[in-house]
Amino acid sequence: MLIPTDFVPFNLDATRFENIEPAIRQLLARPVATMAELEKWLIDRSELAAAVGESKANLYISMTCDTDDAAARDGYLAFVEHVAPKLTPLFFELDKRLVDLAAAISPDQSRYAVLIRGAKADVELFRDENVPLETQLAVLGQQYEHLCGTMTVTFDGTEKTMPQMARYQEQTDRSTRETAWRAVANRRMQDVDTISGIYDEMIDLRTKVGKNAGFENFVGYAYKSKHRFDYGPADCAKFHKACEVAVVPLTRELERQRKAHLKVDELRPWDLSVDVKGRGPLTPFTNGRDLMTKSQAAFDQLSPRLSGLFRTLGDGAESRGSRGGACLDLDTRKGKAPGGYQYMRDRSRKPFIFMNAAGLQRDVETMVHEAGHAFHSLLSRDEPLVEYRQAPTEFCEVASMAMELLTMPHWKGTFYKSEEDFLRACRENLKHSVLLLPWIAQIDAFQHWVYENPGHTAADRRAYWLELDTRLGGCESWSGIENIRAERWQRQLHLFGMPFYYIEYGIARLGSLQLWLIALEQGPAKAIDLYINGLSLGGSKPLPELFKATGLVFDFGPEQVKRLVDRTARELDKIPE
Ligand SMILES: [Zn+2]
Repeated sequence: MLIPTDFVPFNLDATRFENIEPAIRQLLARPVATMAELEKWLIDRSELAAAVGESKANLYISMTCDTDDAAARDGYLAFVEHVAPKLTPLFFELDKRLVDLAAAISPDQSRYAVLIRGAKADVELFRDENVPLETQLAVLGQQYEHLCGTMTVTFDGTEKTMPQMARYQEQTDRSTRETAWRAVANRRMQDVDTISGIYDEMIDLRTKVGKNAGFENFVGYAYKSKHRFDYGPADCAKFHKACEVAVVPLTRELERQRKAHLKVDELRPWDLSVDVKGRGPLTPFTNGRDLMTKSQAAFDQLSPRLSGLFRTLGDGAESRGSRGGACLDLDTRKGKAPGGYQYMRDRSRKPFIFMNAAGLQRDVETMVHEAGHAFHSLLSRDEPLVEYRQAPTEFCEVASMAMELLTMPHWKGTFYKSEEDFLRACRENLKHSVLLLPWIAQIDAFQHWVYENPGHTAADRRAYWLELDTRLGGCESWSGIENIRAERWQRQLHLFGMPFYYIEYGIARLGSLQLWLIALEQGPAKAIDLYINGLSLGGSKPLPELFKATGLVFDFGPEQVKRLVDRTARELDKIPE
């Protein structure tokens, strides 16, 4: 059931400032003296923010679904350059008013503490002079996405996107893999200096943003603006060390086994995705529609509740962004931005899933991952406050990553007909779930260094990246291609558009592994009950409480990392290559 409010008309075009401004001014001026009046004020504010959020979502979706469409790009840019900068100070006034009203009216802490704590942090951080800097950052982020989205190579006689090229890394012929790998790497190297320049500008701007708000650099600002109330940089540094000590030995051991299986003198970067027994790539599905049909069948087996939610998303055949309220755009094609995401449209309360499906096992993982985000959006859609329909990302990623593990037993008979293919997919998935941890630590350590040392040069940055790669990377040989190794961070789009958004994946990975162990030890029904219980809270509780409601401990320290990784390694041992 949606919360109706007569305050914001449902057909309001919130891409236009003149349509939103009067409503904000009305909220700023409206007398609020009682708890009932405050609750109505909060809901009206929430629906207004939801309308703006949904307009921005639709513009972003249109642009990422077709980065070559000038009108879509202009529409998004017009919003981020001309509308958002005027809205930000007004929404800040609303936050300030909320903090003042909360002080005067003292609303129920158990319901409103999280909301008010967040608003207070935002009020303390806000500086007028940062608004134009945020605008410049959004434009730079768009430039990076455009550069990556339009990268193609001509291979096998036709022009191919980067996601389409990924498939060649699973080819059994080693020279094909090497040629494809080099074609992609060389294409990326053409834009290395441009991307490095974009990043330099971003670091500069972000350092200014942090300093303007009274911080020594961007790090403290980023933590506070991301509402990280429950951990700090020192906890992250412990996580990096834990990955180095407890995970890297496992990743390197798996690589040594791979080298032995492949019977090669040296393991090279193009040897990391191929099947070690020389089998061709897994072919779990053909296109977006097929991906959707098979995923539905897997969710049907996992849980009736989740299956019902999944069914509302559509059949996967659409390729027109969010037009007409569509919820899916799955197939890769030229001009689509890289990656995958789920974006909740806050007013209509309908999720949207974007991805670049190319028929790979990793696309299956992405699909169920994004479906987990959509479940989170849908399970908390009846929450009246938009702020509580969004959970902290550390927990959002538990919602998504848990689906990668909990759907796994149901890939048999859906995506995979043979036991052999099914076990291969499971092994690959389990490996991904732990092997990514050192990469997460590497990206996170890299960003801390980058923003703690804002005066660095591009050469310093490459050197630090290589130092991290020695600590946290694999044991494959980069001989003769060290220059490519030094720029690998450029593929990680979070570094550009979403600074410091990456450790969340590590924290959440450990949460999702905990939930998977609950499914193994106490049965999947128990794990699904906890999952639905935790997700239904949205963002209405502090992070450790959201973990607790899902049966999990909020802990990413060394013992926890070791316990979960060792346990996963034991499960991996049960699935031979
Ligand atoms: Zn995610």
